Amino acid sequence: MTTPNWNLPLDALPEHCDVLVVGAGPAGSACARLLALGGLAVVLVDAQAFPRDKVCGDGLVPDSHAALRRLGVHDEVMRLARGAGSARCVAPNGGFVDIAGELAVLPRRELDALLCRSALAAGALMAAPVRFELPLTDAAGRVVGAKLIQGNQSRTLGARWVVLATGALPAPLLAAGLCQRRSPSGMALRAHVRHPGLDAELRELRFVWHGRLRGGYGWIFPGPDSVFNIGVGLLDSLQAETPQAPWRRRRPNLRHMFEEFLQVDPLAARLMQEGEVRSELKGAPMRCDLAGAQWSRPGLLVTGEAAGATYSFTGEGIGKAMETGMAAAEALLAHAGLASAGGSAVNPAAADDATALGYQVRLEALLPRFTTYRQAASFNRWPGLVNLIIWRAGRSPKIAAKLADVLNERRLPGSLLTWRGLRNLLTPG
Ligand SMILES: Cc1cc2nc3c(=O)[nH]c(=O)nc-3n(C[C@H](O)[C@H](O)[C@H](O)COP(=O)(O)OP(=O)(O)OC[C@H]3O[C@@H](n4cnc5c(N)ncnc54)[C@H](O)[C@@H]3O)c2cc1C
Repeated sequence: MTTPNWNLPLDALPEHCDVLVVGAGPAGSACARLLALGGLAVVLVDAQAFPRDKVCGDGLVPDSHAALRRLGVHDEVMRLARGAGSARCVAPNGGFVDIAGELAVLPRRELDALLCRSALAAGALMAAPVRFELPLTDAAGRVVGAKLIQGNQSRTLGARWVVLATGALPAPLLAAGLCQRRSPSGMALRAHVRHPGLDAELRELRFVWHGRLRGGYGWIFPGPDSVFNIGVGLLDSLQAETPQAPWRRRRPNLRHMFEEFLQVDPLAARLMQEGEVRSELKGAPMRCDLAGAQWSRPGLLVTGEAAGATYSFTGEGIGKAMETGMAAAEALLAHAGLASAGGSAVNPAAADDATALGYQVRLEALLPRFTTYRQAASFNRWPGLVNLIIWRAGRSPKIAAKLADVLNERRLPGSLLTWRGLRNLLTPG
């Protein structure tokens, strides 16, 4: 793929475009690519110049692979990534089970650059570092563009639609009047560490649960060039804004949790003791459960992690960011009147309603998965239960296959990752 111009200055942008996509992470770039392939004039802006890093585990789980295929960039991603055939789930008592799946690891600096380039190759323009400040509205309150800032320069850009794909920070949602919850659903931190000596021992994506990591888990994901992504995430304890339960009042220190991880997992300890640190420990928030923000207002859609498209329980969100970004693009192409000649034949208010509804229907189709993952997040608090699940799955190929179906999204997790599903899982027969 050739590299068209990116990081354009603000004054290189046109006065007006069909769709302004704010945020060039997986959600924004996927959305921009589909819209540009659909023939629309698309401007993508990001607050950071590309390529840029994003604090993440860099793990591509099966839904990411499916989304990358839909975008037509899977082969290119896999030429750079390190593939893996399973996720190793390690129980607090040291037992483990390998769950088969199509998995890979690619640092976000490379993944996001590739996705952004794919949007540009489809015809989108990309300006950065450019910050979205505010939506512009008409007399009726419909969004008709945005105020953008670069350094000490600011300007407006007219757009028939704006898509906010700004990730987990609440500021852009607040500016757009769509933020329903400021605080994150979870927090995680990670480092990159090179250690060629561990290549043979760490082939799978390794997830470690332990009583001392209660409320979350630790991971080691093997990336290209013997560089491992190691981190811990807390995916349950921050969920309630008005905490009822005592364990939710505690806000554990993630660096302390990381130290605990090194004490309970020998491979994590070896990696940190013997390896060469390539990027220091850094943390970031997560917005989960498809909650915490309104999904739209007339003239504007919210997508990716800004819309809460990261799973609680696992903290995975790259795949769903791309999926929801593509859902936003599909809704715009199908209903917004953008694809018709000038859109003039379309009643604008009806088109706005149809677009919002079309997007809502697509996101609601994903809700059952998010709901079950939210329920399952509470398992992270019960180490004994995790011991039991991993022990059972390790002895029953049938149960391991069911868990693989969940990981590969061939089955809704609803039947497994709930308390009732769990009882069935643990009942022999
Ligand atoms: C430590 C950690 C580990 C994780 N590990 C994994 C994992 O292994 N696998 C997985 O699938 N998911 C993982 N996740 C979740 C994953 O990182 C997110 O789900 C994913 O990045 C969401 O993509 P996005 O495109 O919605 O947002 P982002 O990737 O956050 O992109 C948003 C973009 O918007 C830009 N932006 C923000 N505000 C503005 C503004 N005002 N103006 C202009 N631009 C703006 C930002 O600069 C950024 O480039 C992890 C998260 C964390 C914190």
